Amino acid sequence: MGLRKLVAGNWKMNGTLAGLAELDAIAEAAARRTGLDVAVCPPFTLIAPAAQLRPDLAIGAQDCAAAASGAHTGCVSAGMIVEAGGRLAIVGHSERRAAQHETDAEVRAKAAAAIAAGLIAIVCVGESEAERDAGEAEAVVTRQLRGSLPRDATGATLVVAYEPIWAIGTGRTPSLDDVAAIHATIRAELRAVLGDEGARVRILYGGSVKPDNARALMAVAEVDGALVGGASLKAADFVPIIEGAAAAG
Ligand code: PEP
Repeated sequence: MGLRKLVAGNWKMNGTLAGLAELDAIAEAAARRTGLDVAVCPPFTLIAPAAQLRPDLAIGAQDCAAAASGAHTGCVSAGMIVEAGGRLAIVGHSERRAAQHETDAEVRAKAAAAIAAGLIAIVCVGESEAERDAGEAEAVVTRQLRGSLPRDATGATLVVAYEPIWAIGTGRTPSLDDVAAIHATIRAELRAVLGDEGARVRILYGGSVKPDNARALMAVAEVDGALVGGASLKAADFVPIIEGAAAAG
């Protein structure tokens, strides 16, 4: 028996109050497919209205501050996310690692803060195209994991998302064999860092997951779900991905 799959949507800086209407069909698909978990991570401003609109659907954030409170203009703490109704926080997304220069140590502190507040932390890792071409993908991801994972995390509090940067928003994906190879490496590193608990941490694949490739990607060994960007914005795309993940078992 594999781990219970998680399909999480990352809306990035997209979405409006009116756009929350998409959540109805997503929540209904999640209710139909009781064998897996579904979450949507809209912008901070939409967490509370989304959670109020669909209390049956897990709503998450796309980041959280490492600090609990204080002089951190523009930041949002994990406790604030919980108060708004959030249940998860993505941390260390490659767009934040690049644009906000987030380091592995900062990502680890954010993940620890999320977990301490009662959120599930989704820690993102993934190599650039140049790193993959140089044969360094596994070394890069292993280094990111070693630096970014809180050492007391468990399968209940931590999820890892492998997202090759060159696959995000490009329509390109690694081969299924490449996905299997790097997910196996991630599993080995999770066991090395977290011991037996590392076997219980879900490893999501992210990067151009679409309705037509979801089922095949989700059937790869050690792929325990998906982190979905563009295709999570519309229920017409996201629901077939949920169905594909459910069908993959
Ligand atoms: C992401 O940015 O987390 C992502 C996976 O994006 P997309 O699905 O659009 O490639």
